Amino acid sequence: MSEVYFVKFGRHVSNIVETMRRLLKATKYDERVTQGELVAIKMHFGERGNIRHVRPQIARTIVEFIKKKGALPFLTDTTTLYSGFRRTAVDYLETAAINGFSIGTVGAPIIIADGLLGRDYKEVKTPGEMGSVAVASAIAEADAMVVLSHFKFHVSFGIGGALKNVAMGCCARKTKFDMHAVAKPEVIEERCVGCGLCARHCAYNAISIVNGKARIDYNKCVGCGDCVAICRFHAVRMHWGGGEHAERMLKRAAEAVYGVLSTFEEGKVLYINVLTDITRLCDCATSLETPLIPDIGILASYDPVAIDQASVDLVNSMPAYNPKKDGTIEYVPPGQDKLKVFYPEIPWWILLEEAERLGIGQRKYKLVTI
Ligand code: SF4
Ligand code: SF4
Repeated sequence: MSEVYFVKFGRHVSNIVETMRRLLKATKYDERVTQGELVAIKMHFGERGNIRHVRPQIARTIVEFIKKKGALPFLTDTTTLYSGFRRTAVDYLETAAINGFSIGTVGAPIIIADGLLGRDYKEVKTPGEMGSVAVASAIAEADAMVVLSHFKFHVSFGIGGALKNVAMGCCARKTKFDMHAVAKPEVIEERCVGCGLCARHCAYNAISIVNGKARIDYNKCVGCGDCVAICRFHAVRMHWGGGEHAERMLKRAAEAVYGVLSTFEEGKVLYINVLTDITRLCDCATSLETPLIPDIGILASYDPVAIDQASVDLVNSMPAYNPKKDGTIEYVPPGQDKLKVFYPEIPWWILLEEAERLGIGQRKYKLVTI
C-alpha cells in the first residue's frame, strides 16, 4: 500500500510556504537527490488569462528545498497542440512570465522541455498500442523529477492529476497526437449558435461554419479538444464511441506514463497534487469559471496512481456546487460521486487501472495526514 502525505487546508494552517516545507520534509525527497543532479519540476504555468494554475510560491518552495542539497532544479513544461499562448517555447515563456513564473520569482530557470516547436524528444520503447513514446528532451535527460500538478476535472480525461501531467505534459507533440488521435469532437447542432469562436481557435483549420452551424472536417481534426473547452454554449463534446475511444486514449496515456518514467531511476520522481481551485476545465482554459469544490489541501506521494486515487476520493468526500444552464446552482452533497455529476461519459478510472496493470503504482493507499 503506497503512502500519500496530506496537508489539509483550514483555519489552523498558517501559510503556503510553511505548509509546503512541512509536506516536503515528510516526503524526505531531499534524501533522494544528490549534489549536481538536474531536477525537473514539471508543472503547468497556466494559459494566458488563466488564474487557477498552481501558484509560483509553491514552485519556489520546492526549488529552495532541492537547492539545499546542491542539486540543480529547473521548472519545465511542454508546448501544446492547440492554439493559444503556449504553442511555441517563445509564446510559452512569455505566458509563464505573465502568470508570475520567472527565475526572479521562483529562483530557478524555466526550460520548455520539448524545444522551440515541440520537436525535441527522446523516443523510448513501450509495451502498448503506440509501441514507443516521445519523451520531451529536458525531461528525458533530467536525473530526477517533481511532478507538481493542479488537480481538477478535465474535458478529455475526466480528472487532471499526476498521471495526466506526466502522460500529456512530459511528451512531445508526436505522442500527444498519438494519444488524442483516438478521440474526436462532435457538434451538438441544436445548441450551436454559429458564433464561430471554435473555428477561429482551431489550430488545424478543421472547423467551418456552414448554414449557421459549426462543422468539423475529420480529415484535419487531431482531437486536441480545444473546441470543446472554448465553446460557451456547450455545443461541442468529445465523441467517445460508446466508451471505446475513451478507453483507447486512456490506455495510451498510461503507456505514455510508462515511457516517461522509464527514463528515471526508481524512487527519483515525487508527485505533488494541489487540490485547490478545482474547476470543470483545466489550466489550458481561460474562462473565469468558479471553482466547484471548496479548497481541500495538498498531497504528496512517490506513487502517481495512489495520489490520483486519493485526490478523487478527497474530492468525492467534499460538497460541490454545480452551476446549471438556467443560472441556478445544484448542491452536490459530500459522498456523492463528483465525476458522475461533471463528466458522466468519461471512464476516468481506466487510466488508473491501466497504470496499475503496467506496474506504475497502485490504487490502494494509506493517507498520512501531517
Ligand atoms: S463555439 Fe460553439 S456555438 Fe460557437 S460556432 Fe462553435 S460550436 Fe457553435
Ligand atoms: S476541431 Fe479538432 S483539431 Fe480543431 S480544436 Fe476541435 S479537436 Fe482540436
